[in-house]
Formats: sequence, structure tokens, C-alpha cells
Amino acid sequence: MPDSQQRSQASQAVWGGEDRYLLDRATQVPVVHSVAFGYPDFDEWYDVATGKAEGHIYGRNTNPTVAVFEEKVRLLEGAVAATSASTGMAAISNMLHALLRPGSRVVSVKDTYGGTSLLFTEFLPAFGIECTLVDTTDTEAIEAEVARGCNMLYLETPTNPTLKVLDLRRLIAAGHAVDATVVVDNTFATPINQLPLSLGADLVVHSATKFLGGHADALGGVVVGDAELVKKVYQYREINGATLDPMAAYLLLRGMKTLDLRVKRQAENAMAVATFLEAHDRITKVNYPGLTSHAQHEIAASQMTGFGGMLSFAIDGGLEAVKEFLPHLQMAHRAANLGAVETTVGPPATTSHVECTPEERAALGIPEGLVRYSAGIEDTADLLADLSQALDR
Ligand SMILES: *Cc1c(COP(=O)(O)O)cnc(C)c1O
Repeated sequence: MPDSQQRSQASQAVWGGEDRYLLDRATQVPVVHSVAFGYPDFDEWYDVATGKAEGHIYGRNTNPTVAVFEEKVRLLEGAVAATSASTGMAAISNMLHALLRPGSRVVSVKDTYGGTSLLFTEFLPAFGIECTLVDTTDTEAIEAEVARGCNMLYLETPTNPTLKVLDLRRLIAAGHAVDATVVVDNTFATPINQLPLSLGADLVVHSATKFLGGHADALGGVVVGDAELVKKVYQYREINGATLDPMAAYLLLRGMKTLDLRVKRQAENAMAVATFLEAHDRITKVNYPGLTSHAQHEIAASQMTGFGGMLSFAIDGGLEAVKEFLPHLQMAHRAANLGAVETTVGPPATTSHVECTPEERAALGIPEGLVRYSAGIEDTADLLADLSQALDR
């Protein structure tokens, strides 16, 4: 049996972090619904409260179920430290607020998640933080902006919803050349397909709501990586109060046990769907990093071990055609979510970029007639048949 730190990801997904809080020979982690943790011994209480001894004091700060969730993600990402938050956006915004100061400069790309993009364009500038968003596929332009000096380089790959791929090795090197903290949103790829910390990134953030949980029944976020940086994020988050709920942590933990199985099946389905759609005469464009026609396919292949469960495509006829097509799908939720066991579809206007106006979406290069497709774990042939009948209508 390999050392518990060296197990493969499929095993970590099942066993990682599980043993610490098992109670009365239970085989499953308990959901600890307790606001506070009591200490009859004053000295012990004092030591835990002042961080000299391990333990829990108050639920806004830490909780046993939440700690197991953090530990499992830490092991899956090969990180030194992990901390969680109530949602993916809570993880991202707490990380940014904890690490940036008035006068700080962030370089990122135009294609980050809609909510993240709004932090860069509206909320952070209000605190005197300069955010420069560069064309996602122009690696030289990103490098040039980074070289002007920045405190943080914030990356997301593959992107939402157009599945652009950033060259992580090259950009992480550019960020470190100017001593910037390099952060990667790994939500779309998952640690099964991509390990940014192993490529040199300082922090990885996730919306655990998506693939990590995988069952569309719990919101959560997590930040993993460098111990000092994670500690700063934790210290801000415990005061900011965007704490992950223990019940949500439990649902995410249970979902994560099948992460490896799910993500591999989702990638198989996404590849089959992308290949099918690319050959279909009603489809004008398919975005999937696994296709050799994808502009950054080579980069994706060099930094990902699988191409993920997400794709997007444009139907001949624009938004009107999308409106007509979507209701005919029988095996897909039309919803603003992704990464679930059920196939989920939607246009950016109601999903990833619902916060943006049509003009803002156009400025980001997101066509209104695009469909984002999150492949579930259904039978591949059934998914293809469903798409085929809906497109034939
Ligand atoms: C959904 C998502 C987020 C935000 O996560 P929430 O859990 O919805 O707050 C951030 N980044 C990416 C890539 C996402 O898909």
C-alpha cells in the first residue's frame, strides 16, 4: 500500500482525508452541525484558541467536516495547504481581497468566469487595484503586460464558455520573472485533468460547486497551494465570514469520491459529442480542446492529461436557432450549471455571462448563438442520438 500522501488520485478521491474524524467506527465522515466546540480544560482551550494546538473553536473559522473536504482537495491537487469558502466566487473574491492592496496590479485575461471578470472590471478598481485584462489567446501580449510589473497573474484554463487554452508553463514563468503570485482557476479542468501547482502555479482556486461536487446539489469553493498565501486567505475569509457550510462540505466530499470515474467518463462523452457536432452540417463551430482543430490543441495536450467535460458550439442561425434547438433536447438540463452527472446546456446569456450585457459579451468575443455543453455521465450513444434528433427538427 503506497504512503497516504503518494496514492493515485482515484484512491485519494475515495480515501484522502477521510480517517481523521471517523466516529465510533463509522466508515463515513460525520456532518458536524455545531457552532462552537467546548473545552472543559482552560489551558487546552487557550492553546487551541491561540493556534498553539490543533482543534476547532467556532464554526465560522473551522469545522471537522469542512476540514476533511479541504484535506481531500489538497491531496488531489498535490498542494501544501487548502482553505475553503461558501462558493467558488467567495473563494476567488476572498483570495483577491486577502492578497491585494490599494496600488496592487493584477494581470488577467478577458475570458475569465463572468463573476471573476466583474471583480476585475468593477469591484477591485474601486479599491484602487489596477486590473488589466488581456486578449486570452495572445500569449505575447499577456507576457508584455506581466513584464510591465504586477503583483498577481490570474489565469483560467480552459476558459468559459469558449474553451480557450492558456499556455500555463510559459505564463507561470512570466509571472514568476516579476515576482507575481500566479493563480489558476482549475474548475473546468479538475485536478484529474490538470495540475497547475505541479507546473509551478502558487495557488489554485475552484468552484467546487461544479466538477468536484459533481451532483449539482451543493455550493462551495476552495483555494489550495502555498501555505503562507493560503493562510492569508483563510485569515481574511474567517473574518469576512463566507464559510463553507458543513452539510455542503459533506455533499461535496461524497461527490468527490467518484471524481476520477466521473471526470474520465465526462471527457469521453465530450470528445464524442464534439466529434459528432464538428461533422454536423447545422453546426458552424465547435470549441473543444481535445479536437485537433482547436487552435491551442497542442498546448492543451502538453499540460492536460484529459480534455475535460466542457465544450461549446455555434448553431447555424444564431440565437434564434439556439432558442428553437434547446427545448428539443430530452436528456439535458437547460440550466446555469456545469460539471454535474447530468448533461447541462445553456447559452452564455443565461449561464456563464448572465451578469454581462449583450454589448459586454460581444466585447469579450462571446457570440450570442453559442451553446455551452457540459457532458454528463450518460451513455454516449444516447447523448449523440438526443443531439441528432434535436438538430434535425
Ligand atoms: C462557476 C464558476 C465559478 C464560480 O463558482 P460559484 O461556486 O458559482 O460561486 C468560478 N470559476 C469558474 C470557472 C466557474 O465555472
